[in-house]
Amino acid sequence: MLRTYITSVSVGLLRAVKLALGVLCLMLVGCEQRSDSLIELGGSTMGTYYSVKVAHPPGGVAAEQLQAQVESVLDTVIAEISTYEETSELSRLNRDPSPDWIAVSAGLYQVIAEGQRLSALTDGAFDITIGPLVNLWGFGPEARRARVPNAAEIRAAQDRVGWNKLALRATPPAIRKARADIYIDLSSLGEGYGVDRIAALLNTQGITDYMVAIAGAIRARGVNAKGQPWAIAIEQPMPDRRAVHRVVPIADRALSTSGDYRNFFEHEGRRYSHEIDPDTGAPVEGNLGSVTVIGDTTMVVDGLATALMVLGAQRAPALAASQGLAAYFIVREGDDIRGFGSPAFQRYLAQ
Ligand code: ADP
Ligand code: MG
Repeated sequence: MLRTYITSVSVGLLRAVKLALGVLCLMLVGCEQRSDSLIELGGSTMGTYYSVKVAHPPGGVAAEQLQAQVESVLDTVIAEISTYEETSELSRLNRDPSPDWIAVSAGLYQVIAEGQRLSALTDGAFDITIGPLVNLWGFGPEARRARVPNAAEIRAAQDRVGWNKLALRATPPAIRKARADIYIDLSSLGEGYGVDRIAALLNTQGITDYMVAIAGAIRARGVNAKGQPWAIAIEQPMPDRRAVHRVVPIADRALSTSGDYRNFFEHEGRRYSHEIDPDTGAPVEGNLGSVTVIGDTTMVVDGLATALMVLGAQRAPALAASQGLAAYFIVREGDDIRGFGSPAFQRYLAQ
Protein backbone atom coordinates (compact mmCIF):
# COMPACT_ATOMS: atom_id res chain seq x y z
CA MET A 1 0.00 0.00 0.00
CA LEU A 2 0.93 3.64 0.08
CA ARG A 3 2.87 3.20 -3.11
CA THR A 4 3.18 5.85 -5.73
CA TYR A 5 2.68 3.42 -8.53
CA ILE A 6 -0.08 0.94 -9.20
CA THR A 7 1.28 -2.56 -9.43
CA SER A 8 -0.29 -4.94 -7.06
CA VAL A 9 -1.56 -8.41 -6.87
CA SER A 10 -4.68 -6.97 -5.46
CA VAL A 11 -5.48 -4.62 -8.29
CA GLY A 12 -5.60 -7.65 -10.51
CA LEU A 13 -7.71 -9.45 -7.98
CA LEU A 14 -10.27 -6.69 -7.96
CA ARG A 15 -10.28 -6.41 -11.72
CA ALA A 16 -11.03 -10.10 -11.78
CA VAL A 17 -13.85 -9.57 -9.32
CA LYS A 18 -15.22 -6.77 -11.45
CA LEU A 19 -14.96 -8.97 -14.50
CA ALA A 20 -16.72 -11.80 -12.72
CA LEU A 21 -19.45 -9.50 -11.47
CA GLY A 22 -19.77 -7.96 -14.93
CA VAL A 23 -20.21 -11.37 -16.50
CA LEU A 24 -22.75 -12.28 -13.83
CA CYS A 25 -24.59 -9.06 -14.52
CA LEU A 26 -24.76 -9.83 -18.24
CA MET A 27 -26.19 -13.23 -17.54
CA LEU A 28 -29.05 -11.77 -15.55
CA VAL A 29 -31.70 -9.89 -17.45
CA GLY A 30 -30.43 -6.35 -17.19
CA CYS A 31 -29.27 -4.70 -14.03
CA GLU A 32 -31.88 -1.98 -13.75
CA GLN A 33 -32.59 -2.49 -10.10
CA ARG A 34 -28.89 -2.01 -9.34
CA SER A 35 -29.05 1.75 -9.07
CA ASP A 36 -31.59 1.54 -6.24
CA SER A 37 -30.13 -1.42 -4.41
CA LEU A 38 -26.42 -0.77 -4.82
CA ILE A 39 -24.19 2.22 -4.18
CA GLU A 40 -20.72 1.88 -5.72
CA LEU A 41 -17.90 4.20 -4.79
CA GLY A 42 -14.23 4.15 -5.63
CA GLY A 43 -11.12 6.17 -6.21
CA SER A 44 -7.39 6.16 -5.72
CA THR A 45 -5.69 5.91 -2.36
CA MET A 46 -2.39 4.66 -0.95
CA GLY A 47 -0.89 4.31 -4.43
CA THR A 48 -3.62 1.89 -5.43
CA TYR A 49 -7.39 2.15 -5.36
CA TYR A 50 -10.32 1.59 -3.10
CA SER A 51 -13.80 0.37 -3.76
CA VAL A 52 -16.91 0.45 -1.58
CA LYS A 53 -20.13 -1.31 -2.49
CA VAL A 54 -23.22 -0.89 -0.36
CA ALA A 55 -26.20 -3.12 -1.11
CA HIS A 56 -29.68 -2.14 0.05
CA PRO A 57 -28.51 1.18 1.48
CA PRO A 58 -30.68 2.44 4.32
CA GLY A 59 -32.81 5.49 3.51
CA GLY A 60 -30.87 8.69 3.89
CA VAL A 61 -27.54 7.22 2.80
CA ALA A 62 -26.47 9.08 -0.35
CA ALA A 63 -23.51 8.12 -2.53
CA GLU A 64 -21.90 11.54 -2.71
CA GLN A 65 -22.01 12.17 1.01
CA LEU A 66 -20.77 8.65 1.78
CA GLN A 67 -17.85 9.08 -0.61
CA ALA A 68 -16.79 12.27 1.16
CA GLN A 69 -16.91 10.48 4.51
CA VAL A 70 -14.94 7.49 3.19
CA GLU A 71 -12.27 9.77 1.75
CA SER A 72 -12.03 11.66 4.98
CA VAL A 73 -11.40 8.36 6.82
CA LEU A 74 -8.72 7.47 4.25
CA ASP A 75 -7.08 10.88 4.66
CA THR A 76 -6.94 10.31 8.41
CA VAL A 77 -5.39 6.87 7.96
CA ILE A 78 -2.74 8.20 5.58
CA ALA A 79 -1.96 11.05 7.95
CA GLU A 80 -1.32 8.44 10.66
CA ILE A 81 0.58 5.61 9.02
CA SER A 82 1.90 6.49 5.55
CA THR A 83 5.63 6.51 4.82
CA TYR A 84 4.81 8.16 1.48
CA GLU A 85 3.61 11.30 3.24
CA GLU A 86 6.46 13.27 4.79
CA THR A 87 4.14 15.03 7.19
CA SER A 88 2.39 11.88 8.44
CA GLU A 89 2.65 10.87 12.07
CA LEU A 90 4.66 7.78 11.11
CA SER A 91 7.13 9.80 9.01
CA ARG A 92 7.64 12.14 11.96
CA LEU A 93 8.16 9.16 14.27
CA ASN A 94 10.68 7.70 11.78
CA ARG A 95 12.63 10.97 11.72
CA ASP A 96 12.52 11.42 15.51
CA PRO A 97 15.99 10.56 16.92
CA SER A 98 14.80 10.53 20.55
CA PRO A 99 15.86 7.50 22.65
CA ASP A 100 12.95 8.21 25.04
CA TRP A 101 9.28 7.27 24.87
CA ILE A 102 7.63 9.03 21.94
CA ALA A 103 3.88 9.56 22.32
CA VAL A 104 1.81 8.26 19.41
CA SER A 105 -1.87 8.33 18.50
CA ALA A 106 -4.12 5.39 19.38
CA GLY A 107 -4.47 4.60 15.67
CA LEU A 108 -0.75 4.44 14.93
CA TYR A 109 -0.17 2.48 18.13
CA GLN A 110 -2.77 -0.10 17.16
CA VAL A 111 -1.09 -0.83 13.81
CA ILE A 112 2.43 -0.98 15.29
CA ALA A 113 1.21 -3.27 18.07
CA GLU A 114 -0.32 -5.65 15.51
CA GLY A 115 2.99 -5.64 13.64
CA GLN A 116 4.84 -6.65 16.81
CA ARG A 117 2.28 -9.40 17.52
CA LEU A 118 2.85 -10.80 14.03
CA SER A 119 6.62 -10.67 14.53
CA ALA A 120 6.31 -12.76 17.67
CA LEU A 121 3.96 -15.19 15.90
CA THR A 122 6.34 -15.65 12.94
CA ASP A 123 9.60 -15.60 14.86
CA GLY A 124 10.56 -12.34 13.19
CA ALA A 125 9.83 -13.27 9.56
CA PHE A 126 7.28 -10.49 9.63
CA ASP A 127 8.91 -7.26 10.80
CA ILE A 128 7.65 -3.68 10.50
CA THR A 129 11.18 -2.35 11.06
CA ILE A 130 12.00 -3.80 7.61
CA GLY A 131 11.82 -0.27 6.10
CA PRO A 132 15.56 0.28 5.44
CA LEU A 133 15.70 -2.98 3.46
CA VAL A 134 12.47 -2.22 1.57
CA ASN A 135 13.89 1.16 0.58
CA LEU A 136 17.30 -0.31 -0.29
CA TRP A 137 15.67 -2.75 -2.69
CA GLY A 138 13.64 0.04 -4.26
CA PHE A 139 10.19 -0.88 -2.98
CA GLY A 140 9.73 2.12 -0.71
CA PRO A 141 8.78 5.76 -1.18
CA GLU A 142 12.06 6.51 -2.93
CA ALA A 143 12.17 6.00 -6.69
CA ARG A 144 12.28 2.42 -7.87
CA ARG A 145 15.61 1.08 -8.99
CA ALA A 146 16.11 -2.27 -10.60
CA ARG A 147 19.52 -2.86 -9.11
CA VAL A 148 20.66 -5.50 -6.68
CA PRO A 149 22.32 -3.94 -3.61
CA ASN A 150 25.73 -5.28 -2.60
CA ALA A 151 26.42 -7.27 0.55
CA ALA A 152 27.77 -4.29 2.50
CA GLU A 153 24.68 -2.22 1.75
CA ILE A 154 22.44 -5.08 2.82
CA ARG A 155 24.38 -5.58 6.06
CA ALA A 156 24.19 -1.87 6.88
CA ALA A 157 20.43 -1.83 6.35
CA GLN A 158 20.01 -5.09 8.31
CA ASP A 159 21.73 -3.48 11.32
CA ARG A 160 18.80 -1.08 11.55
CA VAL A 161 16.16 -3.84 11.31
CA GLY A 162 14.74 -5.93 14.15
CA TRP A 163 11.38 -5.88 15.88
CA ASN A 164 13.10 -6.18 19.27
CA LYS A 165 14.55 -2.71 18.68
CA LEU A 166 11.08 -1.28 19.33
CA ALA A 167 9.46 -1.07 22.77
CA LEU A 168 5.75 -0.40 23.15
CA ARG A 169 3.80 1.19 25.97
CA ALA A 170 0.01 0.91 25.78
CA THR A 171 -1.08 3.64 28.19
CA PRO A 172 -0.60 6.32 27.27
CA PRO A 173 0.40 4.95 23.86
CA ALA A 174 4.09 5.46 23.14
CA ILE A 175 6.99 3.90 21.22
CA ARG A 176 10.65 3.76 22.17
CA LYS A 177 13.35 3.13 19.60
CA ALA A 178 16.61 1.39 20.48
CA ARG A 179 18.31 3.19 17.58
CA ALA A 180 17.68 6.66 16.24
CA ASP A 181 17.65 5.37 12.65
CA ILE A 182 14.86 2.79 13.00
CA TYR A 183 12.48 3.14 10.07
CA ILE A 184 9.03 1.59 10.49
CA ASP A 185 7.16 0.47 7.36
CA LEU A 186 3.45 -0.30 7.86
CA SER A 187 2.70 -0.95 4.18
CA SER A 188 1.90 -4.59 4.83
CA LEU A 189 -0.89 -3.65 7.26
CA GLY A 190 -2.05 -0.27 6.01
CA GLU A 191 -4.53 -1.34 3.37
CA GLY A 192 -6.21 -3.67 5.82
CA TYR A 193 -6.25 -1.04 8.54
CA GLY A 194 -7.85 1.44 6.11
CA VAL A 195 -10.53 -1.11 5.16
CA ASP A 196 -11.36 -1.76 8.82
CA ARG A 197 -11.69 1.97 9.45
CA ILE A 198 -14.07 2.33 6.49
CA ALA A 199 -16.07 -0.69 7.70
CA ALA A 200 -16.39 0.97 11.12
CA LEU A 201 -17.72 4.12 9.43
CA LEU A 202 -20.31 2.08 7.50
CA ASN A 203 -21.36 0.24 10.65
CA THR A 204 -22.03 3.50 12.48
CA GLN A 205 -24.25 4.57 9.57
CA GLY A 206 -26.43 1.51 10.06
CA ILE A 207 -25.18 -0.03 6.81
CA THR A 208 -25.28 -3.81 7.06
CA ASP A 209 -24.61 -5.05 3.52
CA TYR A 210 -21.30 -3.96 2.05
CA MET A 211 -17.98 -4.90 0.55
CA VAL A 212 -14.96 -2.66 1.07
CA ALA A 213 -11.60 -3.16 -0.64
CA ILE A 214 -8.28 -1.40 -0.86
CA ALA A 215 -6.39 -3.36 -3.47
CA GLY A 216 -6.37 -6.97 -2.19
CA ALA A 217 -7.45 -6.20 1.38
CA ILE A 218 -11.18 -6.80 1.52
CA ARG A 219 -13.97 -6.92 4.05
CA ALA A 220 -17.58 -7.92 3.45
CA ARG A 221 -20.67 -7.87 5.59
CA GLY A 222 -24.16 -9.16 4.90
CA VAL A 223 -25.16 -9.88 1.32
CA ASN A 224 -24.79 -8.33 -2.12
CA ALA A 225 -27.53 -6.58 -4.10
CA LYS A 226 -28.90 -9.96 -5.19
CA GLY A 227 -29.14 -11.21 -1.64
CA GLN A 228 -26.20 -13.60 -2.03
CA PRO A 229 -22.91 -13.71 -0.13
CA TRP A 230 -20.24 -11.45 -1.59
CA ALA A 231 -17.84 -13.41 -3.80
CA ILE A 232 -14.13 -12.68 -4.05
CA ALA A 233 -11.95 -13.98 -6.87
CA ILE A 234 -8.47 -15.23 -6.05
CA GLU A 235 -6.40 -14.79 -9.18
CA GLN A 236 -3.74 -16.96 -10.75
CA PRO A 237 -0.27 -15.80 -9.65
CA MET A 238 0.86 -14.76 -13.14
CA PRO A 239 2.65 -11.46 -13.87
CA ASP A 240 1.66 -11.39 -17.52
CA ARG A 241 -2.03 -12.21 -17.43
CA ARG A 242 -5.04 -12.00 -15.19
CA ALA A 243 -7.20 -15.05 -14.65
CA VAL A 244 -9.46 -16.23 -11.88
CA HIS A 245 -8.05 -19.17 -9.95
CA ARG A 246 -11.08 -19.67 -7.72
CA VAL A 247 -13.92 -17.71 -6.18
CA VAL A 248 -14.49 -17.63 -2.42
CA PRO A 249 -17.76 -16.54 -0.77
CA ILE A 250 -17.18 -14.12 2.05
CA ALA A 251 -19.79 -12.92 4.56
CA ASP A 252 -18.95 -10.99 7.71
CA ARG A 253 -15.29 -11.69 7.18
CA ALA A 254 -12.08 -10.13 5.92
CA LEU A 255 -9.82 -11.52 3.19
CA SER A 256 -6.42 -10.48 1.94
CA THR A 257 -4.07 -11.76 -0.74
CA SER A 258 -0.32 -11.17 -1.01
CA GLY A 259 1.72 -12.40 -3.94
CA ASP A 260 5.07 -12.15 -5.66
CA TYR A 261 3.75 -11.59 -9.16
CA ARG A 262 2.67 -7.93 -9.41
CA ASN A 263 5.13 -5.85 -7.42
CA PHE A 264 8.65 -6.93 -8.43
CA PHE A 265 11.55 -6.07 -10.67
CA GLU A 266 13.69 -8.25 -12.89
CA HIS A 267 17.45 -8.14 -13.11
CA GLU A 268 19.63 -10.49 -15.13
CA GLY A 269 16.78 -12.93 -15.56
CA ARG A 270 15.84 -13.11 -11.89
CA ARG A 271 12.71 -11.79 -10.30
CA TYR A 272 12.94 -9.78 -7.08
CA SER A 273 9.65 -9.27 -5.24
CA HIS A 274 8.66 -6.79 -2.54
CA GLU A 275 8.40 -9.29 0.31
CA ILE A 276 11.75 -9.15 2.12
CA ASP A 277 13.16 -11.81 4.42
CA PRO A 278 14.74 -10.00 7.40
CA ASP A 279 17.16 -12.94 7.88
CA THR A 280 18.72 -12.71 4.43
CA GLY A 281 17.99 -9.02 3.87
CA ALA A 282 16.77 -9.95 0.39
CA PRO A 283 13.46 -10.57 -1.38
CA VAL A 284 11.99 -13.96 -0.61
CA GLU A 285 12.63 -16.64 -3.17
CA GLY A 286 10.80 -19.87 -3.74
CA ASN A 287 7.72 -21.22 -5.42
CA LEU A 288 4.98 -19.67 -3.28
CA GLY A 289 3.04 -17.51 -5.74
CA SER A 290 0.36 -16.10 -3.44
CA VAL A 291 -1.24 -16.47 -0.06
CA THR A 292 -4.83 -15.56 0.78
CA VAL A 293 -5.94 -15.32 4.41
CA ILE A 294 -9.50 -15.12 5.75
CA GLY A 295 -10.25 -13.82 9.23
CA ASP A 296 -12.16 -11.32 11.31
CA THR A 297 -10.31 -8.07 10.69
CA THR A 298 -8.69 -6.88 7.51
CA MET A 299 -5.60 -5.47 9.19
CA VAL A 300 -4.81 -8.87 10.70
CA VAL A 301 -5.33 -10.86 7.48
CA ASP A 302 -3.41 -8.23 5.48
CA GLY A 303 -0.39 -8.67 7.75
CA LEU A 304 -0.77 -12.43 7.94
CA ALA A 305 -0.81 -12.77 4.15
CA THR A 306 2.49 -10.88 3.96
CA ALA A 307 3.91 -12.87 6.87
CA LEU A 308 3.03 -16.21 5.26
CA MET A 309 4.55 -15.08 1.95
CA VAL A 310 7.80 -14.32 3.74
CA LEU A 311 7.76 -17.70 5.51
CA GLY A 312 7.43 -19.46 2.16
CA ALA A 313 5.96 -22.72 0.88
CA GLN A 314 7.68 -24.91 3.48
CA ARG A 315 7.10 -23.05 6.73
CA ALA A 316 3.88 -21.10 6.06
CA PRO A 317 1.43 -24.04 5.75
CA ALA A 318 2.80 -25.47 9.01
CA LEU A 319 2.24 -22.20 10.85
CA ALA A 320 -1.27 -21.85 9.37
CA ALA A 321 -2.10 -25.36 10.57
CA SER A 322 -0.67 -24.93 14.07
CA GLN A 323 -2.28 -21.50 14.59
CA GLY A 324 -5.63 -22.40 13.03
CA LEU A 325 -5.28 -19.72 10.32
CA ALA A 326 -7.62 -19.94 7.33
CA ALA A 327 -5.08 -19.63 4.52
CA TYR A 328 -5.04 -20.61 0.86
CA PHE A 329 -1.70 -21.12 -0.84
CA ILE A 330 -0.89 -21.18 -4.54
CA VAL A 331 2.47 -22.71 -5.39
CA ARG A 332 4.18 -22.99 -8.76
CA GLU A 333 5.42 -26.41 -9.74
CA GLY A 334 7.28 -26.10 -13.03
CA ASP A 335 4.69 -24.82 -15.50
CA ASP A 336 1.87 -25.93 -13.24
CA ILE A 337 0.07 -24.20 -10.43
CA ARG A 338 -1.28 -25.96 -7.37
CA GLY A 339 -3.60 -24.44 -4.79
CA PHE A 340 -4.33 -25.85 -1.35
CA GLY A 341 -6.06 -24.63 1.77
CA SER A 342 -5.09 -24.96 5.42
CA PRO A 343 -7.39 -27.08 7.63
CA ALA A 344 -9.15 -23.94 8.91
CA PHE A 345 -9.63 -22.75 5.31
CA GLN A 346 -11.27 -26.08 4.41
CA ARG A 347 -13.53 -25.77 7.45
CA TYR A 348 -14.44 -22.22 6.39
CA LEU A 349 -15.52 -23.42 2.93
CA ALA A 350 -17.46 -26.31 4.39
CA GLN A 351 -19.54 -24.25 6.80
P1 ADP B 1 0.52 -5.23 -1.01
O1 ADP B 1 0.66 -4.01 -0.15
O2 ADP B 1 1.08 -5.08 -2.38
O3 ADP B 1 -0.84 -5.83 -0.99
P2 ADP B 1 1.63 -6.75 1.13
O4 ADP B 1 0.41 -6.51 1.94
O5 ADP B 1 2.14 -8.14 1.07
O6 ADP B 1 1.46 -6.30 -0.35
O7 ADP B 1 2.77 -5.81 1.70
C1 ADP B 1 4.04 -5.80 1.11
C2 ADP B 1 4.83 -4.67 1.70
O8 ADP B 1 5.17 -4.99 3.06
C3 ADP B 1 6.15 -4.43 1.02
O9 ADP B 1 6.02 -3.56 -0.08
C4 ADP B 1 6.97 -3.83 2.13
O10 ADP B 1 6.70 -2.44 2.25
C5 ADP B 1 6.46 -4.53 3.37
N1 ADP B 1 7.26 -5.72 3.72
C6 ADP B 1 8.15 -6.41 2.96
N2 ADP B 1 8.69 -7.42 3.64
C7 ADP B 1 8.13 -7.39 4.88
C8 ADP B 1 8.30 -8.18 6.07
N3 ADP B 1 9.15 -9.20 6.11
N4 ADP B 1 7.57 -7.84 7.16
C9 ADP B 1 6.71 -6.79 7.12
N5 ADP B 1 6.51 -6.02 6.05
C10 ADP B 1 7.21 -6.31 4.93
MG1 MG C 1 -0.17 -7.51 3.58
